[in-house]
Amino acid sequence: MTDFVISPPAVSAVPVAGGGAFPVRRVFCVGRNYAEHAREMGSDPDREPPFFFMKPADALLPNDADMPYPPRSTQLHHEMEMVVAIGQGGTDIAEADALKHVWGYAAGLDMTRRDLQNAAKKEGKPWDMGKGFDWSAPIGLLVPASRIGHPSAGLIELKVNGSVRQTSDLSKMIWSVPETIAYLSGLVALAPGDLIYTGTPENVAAVQRGDLLEGSVAGVGSVRTRIV
Ligand code: MN
Repeated sequence: MTDFVISPPAVSAVPVAGGGAFPVRRVFCVGRNYAEHAREMGSDPDREPPFFFMKPADALLPNDADMPYPPRSTQLHHEMEMVVAIGQGGTDIAEADALKHVWGYAAGLDMTRRDLQNAAKKEGKPWDMGKGFDWSAPIGLLVPASRIGHPSAGLIELKVNGSVRQTSDLSKMIWSVPETIAYLSGLVALAPGDLIYTGTPENVAAVQRGDLLEGSVAGVGSVRTRIV
């Protein structure tokens, strides 16, 4: 046994619908993966190669837990997304084989300090503090692909205080799940335990303390948090 000089950190994990938990290694996120969202962020949604940023594994917020409004921001935005959980790793995974590497799916929120992200963009600085802050990744229960298959179409929706804020269809992703896995596995070796937030559709907006966020992905499940 390794002689750790401090206590090793706890393993982040996402509860699985029906029991058990999925241990998380890394959290990758795809940027601008729906054309209407790319446009609202001032980008050209032409099929430029996908790009990625990351959140720490311990940024995951369990389903139904309250999300503390983060420090140093006055512009906390919601981004409703489908999350892919990698069960089998690999490098240079072929698109045709990509779905064999997927263990399951969840509904998730890529919460964003938009003011910090915008400032970073303007200055050509990293997005990390706009994206990868504490509790920035609420996630619902993980559902095994062995039960639900591999959703490539269907409603993705977010309600805030009961009103629909974001609504779109998974089929509108610019880069599909197999394409994303193929591309990302060319950049890094994917490993069991990796999560991929697959990008948000349009109508991202600010939330306030007290707001209740309820997201759903058809055929996958839901995610819920209250901002406190
Ligand atoms: Mn996002």
